[in-house]
Amino acid sequence: MSECSDVIIIGGGVIGCAAAYYLRKSGVSVTVLEKSPHIGNGGSGRNGGGVRQSGRDVRELPLAMYAVEHMWPFLSEELGVNVEYHKEGNLRLGKTEKHLEILQGLTDRAAACGLGVSMLTRDEVREINPYLSEEVIGASWCPTDGHANPLKTTLGYYKKAREAGARFITEENVLAIRKIKGRARQVVTERTVYEGEHIILAAGYESRAIAGTVGIDIPMSHVLIEALVTEAQPPMFAQMLGTADADFYGHQTEHGSFVFGGDSGFEAVNKDNGHMVTSSITASCTCRGILKYIPKLAHAKIVRTWAGYEDVSYDGVPVISPVDEVPGLILACAFTGHGFGIAPVVGMLLAQLAREEKPSLDLSEFRYDRFKPVI
Ligand SMILES: Cc1cc2nc3c(=O)[nH]c(=O)nc-3n(C[C@H](O)[C@H](O)[C@H](O)COP(=O)(O)OP(=O)(O)OC[C@H]3O[C@@H](n4cnc5c(N)ncnc54)[C@H](O)[C@@H]3O)c2cc1C
Repeated sequence: MSECSDVIIIGGGVIGCAAAYYLRKSGVSVTVLEKSPHIGNGGSGRNGGGVRQSGRDVRELPLAMYAVEHMWPFLSEELGVNVEYHKEGNLRLGKTEKHLEILQGLTDRAAACGLGVSMLTRDEVREINPYLSEEVIGASWCPTDGHANPLKTTLGYYKKAREAGARFITEENVLAIRKIKGRARQVVTERTVYEGEHIILAAGYESRAIAGTVGIDIPMSHVLIEALVTEAQPPMFAQMLGTADADFYGHQTEHGSFVFGGDSGFEAVNKDNGHMVTSSITASCTCRGILKYIPKLAHAKIVRTWAGYEDVSYDGVPVISPVDEVPGLILACAFTGHGFGIAPVVGMLLAQLAREEKPSLDLSEFRYDRFKPVI
């Protein structure tokens, strides 16, 4: 089989799979290279499923709002897979006056961009969600936010892209990008060399090292985030929940289980390799926090916990950008824990960039060269 395609995508997460699908839909040949044996084994298969506009950096809002209005409601039908998308709102909860101040600031900034989001009083919050504890004294409310199933979405894009003719190669560890006559042209793996007119780099945090092989640095770090799932519970509520402190978020799935993510503050670093590791007290600590908000879940059993890395940008928003110095290279990384909710629109925009079309949304805030050196 030829190692040449119009576009080579590095990374088989939701971003790479969505880009592959939208490219194939327009007849462009695509090869996706994924290091692990499994598609969606990075953040895309491990995330909390939040499809949120509220609480976002305003630079990201146009993307999130476009995805919620034009893409998510039709995605199950388009992919032929139930992605379990529910547009039933997001409550961001506050327990202190300081929390309410944070929520008010987020609400004001988002409302100024045209998002329908408002502050709720203690009683109004309970009208929407009667399961919340008395400690909750207010919340922000965005009725058009929601949640979806991350694994089904990622695999839905993968399946549909494959059906349309995209080629996916797993266990293909990309080592470097190589320029030919000044253009990014080759992708070097442990086994072979692939060639494409355009290369989309969507390998999460590892994008930094790969971009470095053509002299481009993307200032980002990575953090380990934890999540857990409970046994199925009777139907309780459909909204996505978050908090002013961003210390936990979660929702009840179609199956009845609750998926929660949280930060215990107990994550540690393995001294041998510098990687973050979780500890056995993390899940119980997160649960204690959750019960302060939803006491009714006190007897829900935890079925499984897991962790995943977020690729965290230096200034809090992703890099979605062609690279002037390396024509042919398109960056799509540093999603900073918000990448799932905007994945459909990012996939669409990446396909436009790779076809050398003007992107239908302004991407200037996501350029790779917005970072200034610190002197
Ligand atoms: C616990 C957790 C909860 C989250 N909750 C939410 C949420 O509620 N809402 C939201 O919007 N976002 C959330 N996120 C963030 C979201 O998961 C990510 O932003 C999104 O999945 C990014 O997708 P991606 O395709 O860029 O990255 P990934 O899914 O990480 O995919 C990158 C892929 O590149 C591959 N790769 C890496 N190096 C190489 C290489 N050298 N060669 C080939 N392939 C390589 C990796 O194996 C991986 O499969 C959460 C993240 C975590 C970890």
